[in-house]
Amino acid sequence: MGPETEKTIGPRRVAFFGGSFDPPHIGHLAIARAACELLALDEVLFVPVGRQPLKEGLSASYEDRVEMTLLAVEEEPGFHVSLLDAPRIDTAPNYTAETLEELNRTLPKGSRLFFLMGADSFLALNRWHRGAEIPFLAELVVASRPGETLEPLDAHLPDGLKLVSINPESFQNDRLERWQLADDHGKTAALNLLPELHYDVSATALRNAIHDGKPLIPSAVLKYIRNHKLYV
Ligand code: ATP
Repeated sequence: MGPETEKTIGPRRVAFFGGSFDPPHIGHLAIARAACELLALDEVLFVPVGRQPLKEGLSASYEDRVEMTLLAVEEEPGFHVSLLDAPRIDTAPNYTAETLEELNRTLPKGSRLFFLMGADSFLALNRWHRGAEIPFLAELVVASRPGETLEPLDAHLPDGLKLVSINPESFQNDRLERWQLADDHGKTAALNLLPELHYDVSATALRNAIHDGKPLIPSAVLKYIRNHKLYV
């Protein structure tokens, strides 16, 4: 279950993919697969969050969400589940900036850490704890999501961050746009956009329709939900 990175020595291209996974669904898998392909990732770490600072009252327990996420990724090479964001003993929320710092400390030297998220998460970055630092802790990879508009891209950036330039070559590929962010000191960080993803699925909608048998959840996860009588 643990990050494969701990076992390997060479530099790795690893994406942190945090979320509630309440439950995990095909939207999560689809954006992780696209990021893997477009950014040549070695590994995507699905990291169920113990306590999300901006989202109180998750439906399933942390343990059930971890089990479901393990089932969702079991047949996906390079996808792993990490317990880095397990509930804290002091019951404080799990802050992503701290998790990314910890992850950076454990990755093999020379590795590149990415942070995969959907457009809704990117639009909320200005409300995140240490949001302006996050693009410098891990290179952002933002997947488009139906119902969320990213234009203009700089409208929701945290204070202290601005969009500085685009690499014109990035638009030769419709599936990956590479932009650049800068902080007040002129330090820059890449921002990768995956603009062609249109998976109209959310965990909230699924929880309400879970027992209709809609095929938007991996079948092993659906079986787990039924066996454990979750979301009833
Ligand atoms: P909820 O409906 O409960 O808010 P969710 O479906 O957004 O849940 P999360 O586990 O909170 O699922 O999402 C983890 C990450 O995956 C977030 O960054 C979210 O933006 C992204 N994500 C989830 N579903 C999609 C989707 N269909 N398209 C693009 N990104 C998505």
